[in-house]
Amino acid sequence: MPRRLQTSSATETEALGAELAAVLKPGDVVLVEGELGAGKTTFVRGACRALGVTGPVTSPTFTIGQRYAAPVRVSHLDLFRIAGLQHEDPDLLADYLGPDAIAFVEWPERAERADAGFGAVAARVRIEHAGGDARTVEIRGAGAD
Ligand code: ADP
Ligand code: MG
Repeated sequence: MPRRLQTSSATETEALGAELAAVLKPGDVVLVEGELGAGKTTFVRGACRALGVTGPVTSPTFTIGQRYAAPVRVSHLDLFRIAGLQHEDPDLLADYLGPDAIAFVEWPERAERADAGFGAVAARVRIEHAGGDARTVEIRGAGAD
């Protein structure tokens, strides 16, 4: 069974990210889906903090991703602006993924439509608006199902 939880603040969603981070290991990829403003970056921020990232964690705007220094290398991708990866350099994702990195991917469906592989997907997170500041967070994988 996937875990399906409700949060009522950004802080609570960050805490869920931190909880997931605790079971991640190098090489793991976490796909984070949901509409704009759902709280994907908020969730990833909580996970990154728990992994030891100290700087700002915001959605990358001018590149598809950023890398954060932490005890285990952390990557944060946002594929919102990528229509499909067919016309992109095949190494585009490779720069961010790898056996030594934990990677979080916002808008993974953009790449999946182009059959781009993410390798070892450890967990899939889906965040939905549930009225006001409420969000439903569904976590599959990483021991949740
Ligand atoms: P996304 O990356 O999905 O576009 P962000 O995480 O950047 O979304 O933005 C979510 C916004 O919603 C933030 O301004 C955050 O403070 C706000 N927010 C309000 N309630 C919640 C909640 N329960 N969980 C996550 N974010 C929330
Ligand atoms: Mg975002």
